[in-house]
Amino acid sequence: MAYATQMDAARQGIITREMEIVAEKENRTAEEIRAWVAEGKVAIPANKNHKSLDPAGIGSMLKTKINVNLGVSRDVADWESEMEKVNHAVELGADAIMDLSTHGDTKIFRNKLTDECPAMIGTVPIYDSVIYHQRDLGELTAEDFLEVIRAHGEDGVDFVTLHCGLTKRTVEQLKRFGRKTNIVSRGGSLIFAWMSMTGEENPFFEYYDEILDICREYDMTISLGDGARPGCLADAGDLLQIEELVRLGELTKRAWEKDVQVMVEGPGHVPLNEVAANMEIQQTICAGAPFYVLGPLVTDIAPGYDHITAAIGGAVAAAHGAAFLCYVTPAEHLALPNAADVKAGIMASKIAAHAADIAKGVPGARDEDDAMGDARRELDWEKMFAHAMDPETARRVRDERSPEVEETCSMCGKFCAVRSMNKALSGEKVDIL
Ligand code: SF4
Repeated sequence: MAYATQMDAARQGIITREMEIVAEKENRTAEEIRAWVAEGKVAIPANKNHKSLDPAGIGSMLKTKINVNLGVSRDVADWESEMEKVNHAVELGADAIMDLSTHGDTKIFRNKLTDECPAMIGTVPIYDSVIYHQRDLGELTAEDFLEVIRAHGEDGVDFVTLHCGLTKRTVEQLKRFGRKTNIVSRGGSLIFAWMSMTGEENPFFEYYDEILDICREYDMTISLGDGARPGCLADAGDLLQIEELVRLGELTKRAWEKDVQVMVEGPGHVPLNEVAANMEIQQTICAGAPFYVLGPLVTDIAPGYDHITAAIGGAVAAAHGAAFLCYVTPAEHLALPNAADVKAGIMASKIAAHAADIAKGVPGARDEDDAMGDARRELDWEKMFAHAMDPETARRVRDERSPEVEETCSMCGKFCAVRSMNKALSGEKVDIL
């Protein structure tokens, strides 16, 4: 192959098969995609070993993508049902699956994903490190962590979350200045604990150049984790978050020097009025690298409904430049999501992403909405279902509550405004009684 990574190809002026596919999906020219990949503004996470991948691009000028976190834990360890959730998530429109498994032989599930799944696959190698080496966290060395990153690259993982920006300095800041919810990132807390136990610097920061070489070899995109993301509104935009972001900006540029594709992860819990500013700061500091947000959740007091709090923040974030939304389910902060939670989370994220795409003027983003408007004016229920994001649910709700007058719905019956207007405009009598 004449190039190492998508970014390397783009910088050499080569348009890859993946860039052509992304251009087709996004209603853009292949040359536009190539130029954005060369600049780092679009990432195409596409590990050379993920043979079943249907490539997708991530960038603020493209359709907003959504990620679904899945994987087994010690308490819920059923691989089969997790694979069913993956397949269902992809059917519902997930662009990426992050395998966050922390139990059993994770390689089997990871290989199944990269063998069969067309969506981008992401992992967080530090989650897998203890399982992979069968040694507890404090006994692991920097080389052990790098070995896991390489193993995930070999297995075809398209992007890895690495919490490279949380350093000894973060440890000092947290101890000195405090925080209401400390570190809420799972990966961030593991690195914090490892640094505390060993007294050594974050290995993902210290050996970043070696990590870049591994990622370049497989064209594995780095998702720079926000280990110090705020876990509550009170911690949003504080010293730890912004100081880490500045470091992520430096690490982005170092990755690009080696043609390694990068995304930057973002908050977290953020008041609604601060979401847009967060996106603008990130884009400036990280030179337009795609921003991958985990929410943002705009209130802390709605456990059971956090798919909604995250969708509100996600829509505003994406309208202001975030490129990739990590879904949040109603089980967030409470439990491992079940199949119904996964569906609710995906639908909330899809609505947020779509609303932002319309606001951003992404080419073709509003076409389905315009078609839905026509179908509603015509009271054409089959067409309405065809343009609905979730036709199955729309059809079920209508069928469960059938209308007295078939052409309307049971909300207004014969008082249906659409029916009255259609009749009035065509000169027909409007019968109500
Ligand atoms: S009955 Fe009311 S809610 Fe239903 S389609 Fe007509 S106007 Fe809309």
